[in-house]
Amino acid sequence: MDFVNILGVHVNKYTMDDAVAKASELMESDSLSMIFTPNSEILLYASENPQFTDVLNSADMIVADGIGVVYGAKILGNPLKERVAGYDLVCNLFPVMAQKGKSVYLLGAKPGVAELAAENLVKKYPGLVIAGTHDGYFKNDDEVIADINAAAPDFLMVCLGFPKQENWIYNNRQALNAKLAIGAGGCLDVFAGTVKRAPEFYCNHGIEWLYRLIKQPSRFVRMLALPKFGLKVLFKGRQYK
Ligand code: UDP
Repeated sequence: MDFVNILGVHVNKYTMDDAVAKASELMESDSLSMIFTPNSEILLYASENPQFTDVLNSADMIVADGIGVVYGAKILGNPLKERVAGYDLVCNLFPVMAQKGKSVYLLGAKPGVAELAAENLVKKYPGLVIAGTHDGYFKNDDEVIADINAAAPDFLMVCLGFPKQENWIYNNRQALNAKLAIGAGGCLDVFAGTVKRAPEFYCNHGIEWLYRLIKQPSRFVRMLALPKFGLKVLFKGRQYK
């Protein structure tokens, strides 16, 4: 099996290379494909919200965004090959897209952030086409969908935070004229430079959460999800089939 069932969600056992290859392949298909990138907080939420579990499992690819998910799979005796964080996946996908002249639409974050991210991305990945941008604080879905559909992007990054972004992609999957959509949390803030990603040391040692906690102490309550997730996997994880 190429996935591990973590609290009901089928996380793919992909390496980064597998994930990039699969994403490139999905971008060639006719209908919209979906990628979700859960961390332990998202998987804990899914375990308490069966409807959201179904939304996640409807994806064509689910990768382990956080180190907690990697440990969760290990606890279940069905290890993942590696962590495939959404941000890293996108960073590895962009050069492939740039080479083929593929386009990306950036949806999400505060007004101005997606535009700034777009400016930085075209500098970093020459050849990458920005199909369009829109902030994540909109009221009218139809207007945003019309803008996306007019641009017909190969890749749609939806960065509205969870569970909003996953639900938004899922609920609009039939209306969207794009090849591949990803729920990518705070990626646009990082591309824009408004939020710094943890230095490599933290990422490589599985303590990116610590860096985020130091930088944004207000995330403390949200971060309690990490130990709660660990305990749930340990004591109840094998009940999920
Ligand atoms: N956001 C948005 N619309 C909303 C709520 C949030 O565009 O209605 C954006 C927010 O500005 C931020 C991102 O969604 O850029 C969520 O970032 P966070 O770091 O919380 O993502 P997560 O930890 O959920 O991946």
